[in-house]
Amino acid sequence: MDLSIIIPIYNEEGNIHKLIERLRGVVAQMNVSCEYIFVNDGSRDRSISLIKALAQTDSSVRYIDFSRNFGHQIAVTAGLDKSIGDAVVIIDADLQDPPELIIEMYRKLKEGNEVVYAKRKARKGESWLKLFTARMFYRILKSITSVNIPVDTGDFRIMDRKIVDVLKAMPEQNKFLRGQISWIGFRQTYVEYERDERHAGETGYTYKKMIRFALDGITGFSNFPLKFASICGFIVSGVAFVVMLYALYTRFISKDYIEGWTSTIISVLFLGGIQLISIGIIGEYISRLSANSRQRPLYIINETNIDE
Ligand code: UDP
Ligand code: MG
Repeated sequence: MDLSIIIPIYNEEGNIHKLIERLRGVVAQMNVSCEYIFVNDGSRDRSISLIKALAQTDSSVRYIDFSRNFGHQIAVTAGLDKSIGDAVVIIDADLQDPPELIIEMYRKLKEGNEVVYAKRKARKGESWLKLFTARMFYRILKSITSVNIPVDTGDFRIMDRKIVDVLKAMPEQNKFLRGQISWIGFRQTYVEYERDERHAGETGYTYKKMIRFALDGITGFSNFPLKFASICGFIVSGVAFVVMLYALYTRFISKDYIEGWTSTIISVLFLGGIQLISIGIIGEYISRLSANSRQRPLYIINETNIDE
């Protein structure tokens, strides 16, 4: 198998036919053997029956039907787990990622890269709030992590089997695939494209899902927030020390003081500082523990036509 194309599906009934039509056109031009892996992430519309109908007439259509909505990153992970292609493409179902770009991405992969990701030059048809928050997120993440995660890049990409095998061996529960792939290394390059508008339906990424996803990215790839707590603690303690000297001065030398103020202010400030340092240190441990302690399965499959 030359190519696996992974398509996460959450309420995409209006896009599935158009998508497979365009993908088939692309694959025909490329002259490769290909499997399509649709991962139905708990859609509440007719998506899964459309996919099953496709699978009946086309043996290259595989599907995984989840027991409920597990989220986009987990859906892609399930596709990666079941894929067998030498190269693997991740693409959104809503045609925001133009399938035709796969031809160029595949060519660059064969030129000796292990990952070719698609970088957005422009995004059409999205609210200014989404554009602004996405822009800020990628830049903040870049400034606080030592992993070189490319800005303005989603999961639309092609990667070599080598990368997929490493990804499958990474046990983290809170997936942030674009960060994990950057972390893995090898030779990575990109192609630029203009992100189209969603063909039909509406976004499955609510603001709640986006915030959780952003926090997965930050906590998975940076300890800066924890360090920030510790740094605050040290600054507060430093200030407390200066105030303490002043309080002692007013108490014993200038004698210009209010009864009881000295001890109160010293203890309040000192304790505040020590507490922040302690919370920061505990946080360092908890963040490492919690990520690895809950050994739940990542997803539950209701039905699939892929055999083990
Ligand atoms: N998706 C998914 N599970 C979800 C949300 C989205 O599998 O909980 C899929 C969705 O069907 C699409 C891709 O992930 O193929 C990207 O989602 P969407 O287009 O809604 O996100 P946006 O482009 O608005 O960020
Ligand atoms: Mg979309």
